Amino acid sequence: MKSALADYPPDVVARALALHRTSPVADLHADSFIAARYVGRDLTRRLRAPRGWNPLRQHCDFVRLRAGGVRYQGFGIVVPPYVPRGARWRHAVRTLAVVRETFLRGARQAALVRTPAAGRAVVAGGRLAAFLGLEGCHALDGHPERLSALRAEGLGYAGLCHFRSNDVVVSGGDRRPAYRGLGPSGPAVIELCNALGIAVDLAHTGPSSFDAALERSRAPVFVSHGNARALCDHHRNLSDAQLRALADQGGVIGIMFFPWLISRGLRRLCDDHRRVVDHIDHVASLVGPEHVALGSDFDGMIWSVRGLPDVSHLPVLTCELVRRGYPDDAVRGILGGNWLRYWASVVAAAERTEQAAAPTPPEALL
Ligand SMILES: [Zn+2]
Repeated sequence: MKSALADYPPDVVARALALHRTSPVADLHADSFIAARYVGRDLTRRLRAPRGWNPLRQHCDFVRLRAGGVRYQGFGIVVPPYVPRGARWRHAVRTLAVVRETFLRGARQAALVRTPAAGRAVVAGGRLAAFLGLEGCHALDGHPERLSALRAEGLGYAGLCHFRSNDVVVSGGDRRPAYRGLGPSGPAVIELCNALGIAVDLAHTGPSSFDAALERSRAPVFVSHGNARALCDHHRNLSDAQLRALADQGGVIGIMFFPWLISRGLRRLCDDHRRVVDHIDHVASLVGPEHVALGSDFDGMIWSVRGLPDVSHLPVLTCELVRRGYPDDAVRGILGGNWLRYWASVVAAAERTEQAAAPTPPEALL
């Protein structure tokens, strides 16, 4: 497929590509393991990219992530809404087995990491540093303590909900929420995330729960994939007040490429990567570019914007940022530096808690 790079002046392309190559490019959210799990896609091989609407082809695999210059990739662990209560944890565990197999097979291309420091070492060795993000705590089936098992498997962040409300938070798509704020498991889940160094992800979370989770969390929270509501009025996108609150406590938002969440009406049919950068512009001018990251939702959205048909085309975004006059530092931050800074703050907060917690005296165990 023709690259949108051809539409830019050669000096802009040269500067953008050099910047892209030397940046810690990070994408916070791709759902590539959905196809790996359900139709046996092998992510270690180059897979065919979709043309337009075609959910049976992949936007990402380890080969094209490399071609797109991605150094850090967050992969969602999804338990679909149809899986009944009581069977969800088992479902998640089976997906984790597919993840483990994939990283064993692709050990020369990529490795799962639990911290930004481990990620830097993997990237320095020329491999992709991948981390996992749970998409919805319904997967825990009412047992928040299962988060520590997930952390051991490489969980970097936990999304509190997905399409439906659960016992942790209300989902943004829920028109008749049964409660406001946090659900019965909410405090325990957030507490454990903070203690284990798992970043709390408020993507998909409804407004009253968003505020309550942000208030409750001791470590800064973030949004792995979402956009600006001021530009596209959809419940998945963040209002200016939410963006300010997120930034005030040190969080970041990963901007997504799904046309449905970047424009309203027919416009979404013809938008291209420049409209993604409009969302970046909005957040950057509202709260500063240091709170912006990328959260493509590749392989989770039905189709991607024009100009970004798959991850190998990612440098066009850098080109557009350069063309709009973003300074090099801001571009590096948006491409991944901001995520690494944020992630490190979450891990450091957990380590401080660990040190502060007085060890249980042995006699207390008698
Ligand atoms: Zn999602």
